[in-house]
Formats: sequence, C-alpha cells, structure tokens
Amino acid sequence: LGPTICVGEILVEIMATTIGDGFREPIDLIGPFPSGAPAIFISQCARIGGMAAMIGAVGEDDFGRINTERLADDGADISAIAVDLDYPTGSAFVRYRSDGSRDFVYNIATSAAARFGWIGNVEALVSRAGHLHVMGSGLSMQSAVDVIERALPIIRERGGSLSVDPNLRKEITYDADTKKRFRNLIATADLLLPSGEELELAAGIEGEDAAIERLFEMGVKEIALKRGSAGATVFRPGAEPVSAAAFEVEEIDPTGAGDCFGGAYVASRRLGLSVEEALTYANAAGARNVTRRGPMEGAGTREELDRFIAETPRLGG
Ligand code: ADP
Repeated sequence: LGPTICVGEILVEIMATTIGDGFREPIDLIGPFPSGAPAIFISQCARIGGMAAMIGAVGEDDFGRINTERLADDGADISAIAVDLDYPTGSAFVRYRSDGSRDFVYNIATSAAARFGWIGNVEALVSRAGHLHVMGSGLSMQSAVDVIERALPIIRERGGSLSVDPNLRKEITYDADTKKRFRNLIATADLLLPSGEELELAAGIEGEDAAIERLFEMGVKEIALKRGSAGATVFRPGAEPVSAAAFEVEEIDPTGAGDCFGGAYVASRRLGLSVEEALTYANAAGARNVTRRGPMEGAGTREELDRFIAETPRLGG
C-alpha cells in the first residue's frame, strides 16, 4: 500500500561515556550519532526490509548529512527531509545519572529539526504512503502536528493505518492542547506502542488491565507493551495476550531501544508476519540496539536480527 512514514525531529546525539550527575565538571562525551526518535524508528523499519520514509528537516551542515546519509544507506526514502539553509541541525546531549536515570539537553525548537512543513515533496510522499507512525515526542512541535493532521486523513482515505508510540519525555512540557491532540490520536490508533507508565497515562486510568480495557473501548486495535529487560506483550481485543521474554544482553546504552522495537514491530506486521514473529523481531531489535553506543548504531538488518535471535539466550528462559 506504500511506505511507513514518520514525522518529527532529526537530531545528532552527543552522549556522556561516564556516569555523573552534573555538567559542572567536564565529562567525557562521544558522538555525534544520528538520532531523533522518529529517525531511529525509520532506520530500523528500513533496515529490517520495510518500505520507510522520513519527514523532517536538517541544517545544511555535517550533522545533517550524517543523518540523511545514514537513513539513505538504510534504504529509507529521504525525499521529504528538508534542508534548512538558515538553522543548524538539531542536537541532544544525553547524560546518565548515578541512580540509573538519564536526561537530555535538547536543541530542537531553535534548530532545523522543527523547521519543516507541508512542502511539495511531503505531499507527494504522503499521497503514496500506507502507514503513519506518530512519536509523542514530536507532538510538542507545531510543525509536526500540522503535517500529521494533514497527512492522517489522506492516509486513512487510502486505506492506510496509524501507530502511536507515546514516547513521553520528562524534559518536554505538554500543554493542554498537546495532551488533547495526543488523546485524539490514540483513540484513532490501530496500534499503540507504550512503554511502562505510558500505558496508564495514555488510557488515563491506573492499573494495567483497566488501562488496556479502556484503550480497547477507545478503539485501539492492538497494544504492544514494552517492558524493558522484561520483554514485551501484545494485547488485542478478544485474543489471548502474546508475551515474549527479552533477550539476554549487556546493556551499554538504552537510548533508542523502544524506537527500534517499534520500527521492527510495525515493519514486520506490515510485511504480513504474525504477532509472535513480529514480537520476536521487535524484542531482538530493541535488545541488539542497547548493546551499542549511539541511539541507532545497533539497529539490525533482517539477517543481523535472524543471527542475533539464533545466538542470543532469552532472559528467564
Ligand atoms: P523504551 O525505550 O520505549 O522505554 P524499553 O526500554 O521497554 O522501551 O525497550 C524496548 C524493548 O527493547 C523492550 O521491550 C525489550 O524487548 C528491548 N530491551 C530494552 N532494554 C533491554 C535490555 N536491557 N535487555 C534486553 N532487551 C531490552
């Protein structure tokens, strides 16, 4: 029916290699790595063999080029990535704290990352797209909201589908308008890919069972719940939940796991794989990605994921 498209921030990521709680003392950093949740999703989607295309913007600089070149190498369609001549490519600094948490310093709003719109190449891409994946992190950008709101009816009209990863970030404030948009989108999603507490936040109710019930009532047809090193479970109305254990890996860098999980799951389902098969690829994509530094450095091709699945033991299995 046409490629899977994702709209939003394209960034470079520069990350701390040592654990620490402040930036007052110089820390060791590594990067730049191509990044941005929607770009990571599209990278994994394309690598596993799904048709995938990205809508966003980069600056006319090397940080932009490492992103567009990576996505093109992965096999993604980059025709709808704008190159902004006035603003630099967006960036994110990631630091890992001693309590195991992580936080970001973003430069999105005043970078090329937020400067895209409904240009001819976007319209052309949307008119042949078969699936839209929305990252909640992008909904705080007006440019992303505008494109998503124009794209969705066109994709629906063509018989296409929608998936939503809430991808909430504590650094980003979601105003009342954004929250409302988010709820409306969730209510029309065919597939929801929440992680941890996002399930209850998306449903607006506490308790896993109650949240799933509520989301089904809202019209969601499939929920892939990510549970980090505890694996993932897929829920569908009227069917038994399908769970799969995580793969046993050494976690070097958790950033991008959920996006790779999503890219692999959506691509696999769109290629006609069963829930069980798609879930195995998704768990493998998430796990393989955490074994490498950099948000999309561990995204795997189908061959790499097949090898990874054959060679890697399951946790608790
Ligand atoms: P998010 O990045 O959206 O918070 P998760 O942390 O739940 O998502 O990771 C997504 C998926 O990636 C998990 O469901 C799991 O399959 C895999 N994964 C993530 N972290 C690990 C890990 N440490 N070991 C094995 N698999 C992992």
